Amino acid sequence: MNREQIAQEIIETCLRMNAIGLNQGTSGNISARYQSGFLITPSGIPYERLTPEQIVYVSNEGEYEADKVPSSEWHFHLSCYQARPELNAVVHNHAVNSTAVSILNHTIPAIHYMVAVTGTDHVPCIPYATFGTKALSDNVKEGIKYSKALLMQHHGLIAMEVNLEKALWLANEIEILAQLYLKVLPVMESVPVLSQAEMQCVLEKFKNYGLKTQ
Ligand SMILES: [Zn+2]
Repeated sequence: MNREQIAQEIIETCLRMNAIGLNQGTSGNISARYQSGFLITPSGIPYERLTPEQIVYVSNEGEYEADKVPSSEWHFHLSCYQARPELNAVVHNHAVNSTAVSILNHTIPAIHYMVAVTGTDHVPCIPYATFGTKALSDNVKEGIKYSKALLMQHHGLIAMEVNLEKALWLANEIEILAQLYLKVLPVMESVPVLSQAEMQCVLEKFKNYGLKTQ
């Protein structure tokens, strides 16, 4: 795909993210790997007004086009691409249920076999750091190395996958798991979880599971 096609797909993914209720306003941001860097949504432009020309290219060295301003959260997108060379798209948002779990600073344990969509047996919650800082990027880098989705304490959610469609799908799955977790938590503080052996079995099966895209 050329730059304009990827930029258009980023815009469509933003609009879908809002349509399915994962995000409000412009607090989320989305990127996709491109050449030796990535393309990312700009700072502060409502998704419905976005045009492909406004999507910003950021290099692997963290340099971007002089006449454009990338999302203020571009630093941790860069960390994601550095940490997972085999994955190509990042979706970030402040989805209500995921953010609520992040405020509790809880990892989502193996309450449901679908936690395996992360590639591990839980959904980690990484420590808080101010948005746009190196400290936050470093925390993201550590977390994303072993889990394709992360809760960010007092902040939101990150999902990384092979392409934009799958990254949005993953973000939505995490939001559903967060919703489930918040439903069972008030009933039973020590929530029942699947055994490690069962999660190993599910993780094995998940090597050939998931949303099928081209
Ligand atoms: Zn954010």
